[in-house]
Amino acid sequence: MAKPAPTRPLRPATLLVRGGQMRSNLDETSEALYLTSGFVYDSASQAEKTFTGEVSHYQYSRFGNPTIEMLEARLAQLEGAEACRATATGMAAVSSAMLSHLKTGDRVVASRALFGSCHWIVSTLLPRYGIQTEFVDGGDLEQWKAAFKRPCQLVLLETPSNPMLELVDLATVCELAHEAGAIVVVDNVFATPLLQRPMKFGADVVVYSATKHFDGQGRVLGGAVLGNKKWVEEVLQPFVRNTGPAISAFNAWTILKGLETLHLRVPAMCRSAAAIAQMLEERAEVERVHYPFLASHPQYGLAKQQMAAGGTLVTFDIKGGKEATFRFLDALRVIDISNNLGDAKSLITHPATTTHMRVPAEERARLGISEGSVRLSVGLEDVADLIEDIAAALDAAAVTPAAPRAKSAGKQVVEDSAPVPPPAPAKPRGKKAEAPAPAAKPAAPDLFVTAMQDLFREPDAEPAPKPAKRRQKA
Ligand SMILES: *Cc1c(COP(=O)(O)O)cnc(C)c1O
Repeated sequence: MAKPAPTRPLRPATLLVRGGQMRSNLDETSEALYLTSGFVYDSASQAEKTFTGEVSHYQYSRFGNPTIEMLEARLAQLEGAEACRATATGMAAVSSAMLSHLKTGDRVVASRALFGSCHWIVSTLLPRYGIQTEFVDGGDLEQWKAAFKRPCQLVLLETPSNPMLELVDLATVCELAHEAGAIVVVDNVFATPLLQRPMKFGADVVVYSATKHFDGQGRVLGGAVLGNKKWVEEVLQPFVRNTGPAISAFNAWTILKGLETLHLRVPAMCRSAAAIAQMLEERAEVERVHYPFLASHPQYGLAKQQMAAGGTLVTFDIKGGKEATFRFLDALRVIDISNNLGDAKSLITHPATTTHMRVPAEERARLGISEGSVRLSVGLEDVADLIEDIAAALDAAAVTPAAPRAKSAGKQVVEDSAPVPPPAPAKPRGKKAEAPAPAAKPAAPDLFVTAMQDLFREPDAEPAPKPAKRRQKA
């Protein structure tokens, strides 16, 4: 017998660990993985009654599966939404939310700064089905107002946007959209439900790529659509049930386990991102830093109103065009070049030549994406290592490759880039450590100990005094 459910509303961290769990009669601790495509019936009559809806029984995992339902329930509770449907990918979530709601003759207004595939759906796919679409600059309320002069059935927007981290005023745009008769679909991937609750500002539907922060460890693809019960059951559910963007139970289970640490990972990543954004603002090699919680962000006031923190992504423009920017990217030794985001590993991408390569140059310029723009997804590594990595790579970016000294300096970086060995566990540190170290191998400060102290310090406590200056390498 299950324990009675708690009577008080639970806080987000608790929901992320326990929300939606259904224990089987075997009383397992962890969420069970029901890796099964279908389900069996006790009798022909039970099968019949299941199909008529007289009894509630699982039928087929495209329609419903207990592991997937646990994920859906957890996400709905976290978002404060009435209902949720999980999907195979974030794009399945976006396309299902839109296509289930729209029909020929409808009109869609979208913010211009959208994830590449979302942009393709609006610009290319929907018009093929006789759906009119229009893009506006998401930060410009006058453009939204002008677009809503004609009837509109659906609005799609992303805030903060990929990759330039521009914001849309959720409360105002939702109000205007509703007056025009549209539902508002918000792609909340960059903010996560911990930093921004679009429904509080009037959004009707929220979509996620669970591939990003929810899994958070680079393992599986997934997505989710959240909305009110009536829309999810009457509009979305028939569409997903019959068109089949269902998530695998294994992926749903992996994401459920990822969610258990979301409230620890995202704030830690945001703290590091903010520190990196500040550090970048002071570097001469950087033209501009885009981060919602920097006072220099043009929508800083709005960011503070609708977001709890600045997010886990930092975008910045490097001086010197593509060449200097590629030198910077190639000189990174910790941060990986990859177009994913929200991962425990810090990942960096050059949108102009990767994710936004297919966007025409003119439109790219309009979005603010230059040849020097890079988007950094800040991970869970020690922020000091990330800052040192970025600083060294910016030094490299500023170096002209033609200069003969630069070549050998670059080579040396490679040779020195072996990972710092973990401190030898057996060697006791004490008075012995005070003894003068041999000149060739000076004793390094105990990075492991200082890092552990940093890890357990309260986030807003005074930073610890830095250890004595690190000795230069011989
Ligand atoms: C990644 C992403 C998507 C698409 O998600 P997939 O899981 O890759 O299909 C949609 N919107 C945003 C903002 C994203 O970052």
